[in-house]
Parts: sequence; C-alpha cells; structure tokens
Amino acid sequence: MKQGDPEKVGDFDVLVGLIGRGIKQSRTPSMHMAEARAQGGRCDYHLMDMDDEELGSVSLEAVLEKVEADGFAGVNVTYPYKIKVMALLDELSANASAVGAVNTVIFRDGRRTGHNTDLWGFAESFRRGLRDVKRDHALLIGAGGAGVAVAHGLADCCKVGRLSIHDVDPARAEALAEHVSKRWGTQVNPVSDLAALVSEDRPDGVVNATPVGMDKLPGSAFPTELLKPEMWVADVVYFPLETELLKAAKARGCRVLSGAGMAVFQAVRAFELFTGRPADPERMRATFDAFVQKPKEMAGP
Ligand code: NAD
Repeated sequence: MKQGDPEKVGDFDVLVGLIGRGIKQSRTPSMHMAEARAQGGRCDYHLMDMDDEELGSVSLEAVLEKVEADGFAGVNVTYPYKIKVMALLDELSANASAVGAVNTVIFRDGRRTGHNTDLWGFAESFRRGLRDVKRDHALLIGAGGAGVAVAHGLADCCKVGRLSIHDVDPARAEALAEHVSKRWGTQVNPVSDLAALVSEDRPDGVVNATPVGMDKLPGSAFPTELLKPEMWVADVVYFPLETELLKAAKARGCRVLSGAGMAVFQAVRAFELFTGRPADPERMRATFDAFVQKPKEMAGP
C-alpha cells in the first residue's frame, strides 16, 4: 500500500496484530478493522495471545521475526512485553524513549521502530475531556505500565505544574518521580500519605493508574472520602467504564474522565502509524462503545 497519503481514502490493505498475554477480550482489533472498513480499506488484525498453547513455547523474538517476514505493517504490544520488546528494535520514537516502553512496533524498510501511543492516548483524552481544568498540582496513583505513560503525558502534554505520585510500592513511585522530573523539568514528588497530602497540599486532580476498580479488583486506590467537589478525577481502568472512584467523584460533583478515551486514542495513533492515514476518533470510539455494550461472553476480538 501507499503510505502517508491522507488524501487517498480506500484501496488499502494492512496486516497487523497484537502480541500479549490474556488479550482475548481486547477491543483494539475491532477498532482497527472497523476503521479500515469505514475508509474503504481492509485491516487484518491478528491476536497473538502468548497464553495460547501453540504459542506457549515460542519466544517474543520468534513471533516478531515471523510477523515481519509475513509482511505485517506492524504490531501492537501489550502486557508483559512493552519493555522486553525494546531490545528487539532498531529505533525508538521520542515518546517511547521518554516512557521507556513500547506499545506499537512499525516494520518499514527492514527496520523496526518502537512507539508509545499510550502517552499521547492519555494526553489527548485529557485534553478533550478535561479541557480548562486547573492543573497546578496533580496526583497520580499507580507507577506501573499505565502510570509511567500517564506521568509523562501529564508532565509533557498536559503541562501540570507539579505532580505527586503514590504507589503501594514506594520504590516505584520514587523511581518514576525521578525519571519524569529529569526528563521534563517538572517538579515531581513521591508521596506515601494520601490523607495528609489532601489536607496539607490538596491536588487539583487525581488520576488512578492502578488496576483497582476493575471488575475483578473492586474498590478504589484513592480513598473516596478524600474527594472534594472542586477536584477532577480521571481513571485509566475501562472495565467497567464507571469505576467506584468515578462513581463517587461524580456524586461529589467532580469532573471525571473514564479510561475509554486513553484506550481509543492509543488506537487512533497506532492506526495512523500502521496505515499512514488519519483515523476518525469518533468512529473508533463508537466501535469501542458498541463493544462495551455486548455481553461479556461475546466480547471477543
Ligand atoms: P501494573 O501492574 O503495571 O501497575 C499497577 C501499579 O499500581 C503497580 O505499580 C502497583 O504497585 C500499583 N498499585 C496497585 N494497587 C495499588 C493501590 N491500592 N494503591 C497504590 N498503588 C497500587 O498495571 P498496568 O499495566 O499499569 O495497568 C493498570 C490498569 O490500567 C489496568 O486496569 C489496565 O487495564 C489499565 N490500562 C488502561 C489503559 C487504557 O488505555 N485506558 C492502558 C493500559 C492499562
């Protein structure tokens, strides 16, 4: 296919996929395939679930070699390979090198380039969904895979004045705080006592980037009694879309942002990288929403 010609709609065919573990419920394939169809093209999106028996003994390196040889335009990469894959690439985009993790690999001219579309995905979702919120001081809870992308997004694109980071594993919060402040010059502090933070140095907003709040892990990593109506609250969890934290925040009158936007916009940017064509975020969001409404047992790729 011809790359990088946004005027040309239709008449394209890309082969891409997702490498990870436990990915059968992923909505990403549907978003890519439906968007390509809507543009008059075709996207063949393959799920490579390393938990599957036939892939159980195959290495990430071998899977990458195979898909590259088979003519894939690229692949999305998810848990637990976002860091491991970096050693198998020729170059990294600026965002991937800032975050230190890759979720999209592009094969072109015999070279493999790693990108991180999670950072932009969160930042774009924030820009659209929490326009004009006060951002002198933000609190991020969770310094794992998603938290790293969110922290860089908050510092770089969302331009928060100050960032506090909390994690049950304090070493993670400390390491991320040091990395983000070195990279962007933002003041970033690891924090341990959330109640003290809210009473003494109240953040304007909170982002949950822990898995707490997922269907399989109910609850809230941020004690909901600490919420104040003037705070904004974002969650990266999107299963369910309304987590306990967001529900409590809404009830307090806070502005809220669900994890759907990040999931959709990471796919929007990946589609553009795979095809060289702009994607329609509203259309991809509609595919994402339609998927959410399906019963769980139908929520396949
Ligand atoms: P992870 O395991 O890499 O990191 C989670 C971090 O949260 C860890 O550092 C852990 O110590 C910390 N943590 C766990 N419980 C905590 C608590 N009660 N208080 C403070 N810290 C706590 O997980 P991840 O890959 O970052 O995923 C986190 C969530 O983000 C998952 O629900 C995942 O589905 C979601 N996610 C969403 C998107 C999106 O596009 N919306 C993208 C990636 C991940």
